[in-house]
Amino acid sequence: MSISPKVTPIYQTSVFTFEDLNALEAYFEQPGQSYLYSRNGNPNTDELAQEVNQLEKGNGAVATSSGMSAILTAVLVYCQAGDHVLCAEEIYGGSAALLTQELTRMGIQITFVPMAEMYGLGSYVQPNTKLILAETISNPMMTVLDLAKVAQACQVQGIKLVVDNTFASPVITKPLQLGADLVIHSVTKYLSGHSDVTAGVVIAKDTADAQRAKQIVVAWGLTLSPFESWLASRGLKTLKLRIKQHSENALALATYLKQHPKVSEVFYPGLPDHPQHALAAAQGHGLFGGMLSFRLADEAETVNRFMRGLTHMPFAPSLAGVVSSISYPLGTSHRALTPEQREKLGITVGLIRLSVGIEDADELITDLDKALAAI
Ligand SMILES: *Cc1c(COP(=O)(O)O)cnc(C)c1O
Repeated sequence: MSISPKVTPIYQTSVFTFEDLNALEAYFEQPGQSYLYSRNGNPNTDELAQEVNQLEKGNGAVATSSGMSAILTAVLVYCQAGDHVLCAEEIYGGSAALLTQELTRMGIQITFVPMAEMYGLGSYVQPNTKLILAETISNPMMTVLDLAKVAQACQVQGIKLVVDNTFASPVITKPLQLGADLVIHSVTKYLSGHSDVTAGVVIAKDTADAQRAKQIVVAWGLTLSPFESWLASRGLKTLKLRIKQHSENALALATYLKQHPKVSEVFYPGLPDHPQHALAAAQGHGLFGGMLSFRLADEAETVNRFMRGLTHMPFAPSLAGVVSSISYPLGTSHRALTPEQREKLGITVGLIRLSVGIEDADELITDLDKALAAI
């Protein structure tokens, strides 16, 4: 009997068997030909990593148990105790917490840099600075970073550029092609796309960095499970179609919200008056992604009424699923910030973030219209 499945089956096993000592020796001598133990490698995990590696045009990738473990891995590829890391001030809250609360305890120093100051890093770089961590598109204000320009500044300073490309996805932007050294994703978001997986991935420009990332994942036990890898690979098959639809819908919703009298501001790179609209159009090949934010009156009761008025967009503090959802930066992702930090980033009581799904845009606009009429 010969079985040849069209889709890679789920290798739901923690360990692999060997015929004899020769087979064991072959495992060590011919890497990539067989498997030993799933923390070290599994066909599903490798398949996911290879697919994302191709999408990002990398030279090696490793899947991880979450976006956070991908960021941890990326920092550990380049840093040890005594080193210094630069990080975008607008970075994902979890990344900021990992750096300031955990990695500082291990002797790594952190300095935050506003995105607008990343194009000339001179005043921030120290002799022990190893890397800068930044995002292609920031949350929740959707500030777009000119990656080629930052990569140039990094080269001048002799530091590595690590890009969290979660909000853009490789369909919109491929940071390695613009000069980044490592790219990370929360695969939890667009890459898997269905709000049913927690996973991450690190993709490297250099083979040696990819190998080091893999070593770190194995040693620290940051491995992704076979089933999560399989689900994420399944999601990846529709990534291009989804990103196109997310982007078209988000542009339609942003345009609608922009003209609504109860909405004071809309933040979406696809709008012509967004501060980095031209950059976003060029760097994103005409797609602007599925994430936007907007401001209602700064009153909690207005926000509550709006949330309760929606039928098809649940309030769920994550993003990038096929079903639209709203989130509330002040109460979730940016909860830990001081009032001064919030004000600096523009995160007020009335700020709502919208993760636009792949439904019919008309249905979503009808839902928004109803909820806005209720406030
Ligand atoms: C969600 C997210 C992360 C963290 O990923 P997890 O999969 O939740 O660990 C990192 N960066 C960005 C931009 C994210 O949105």
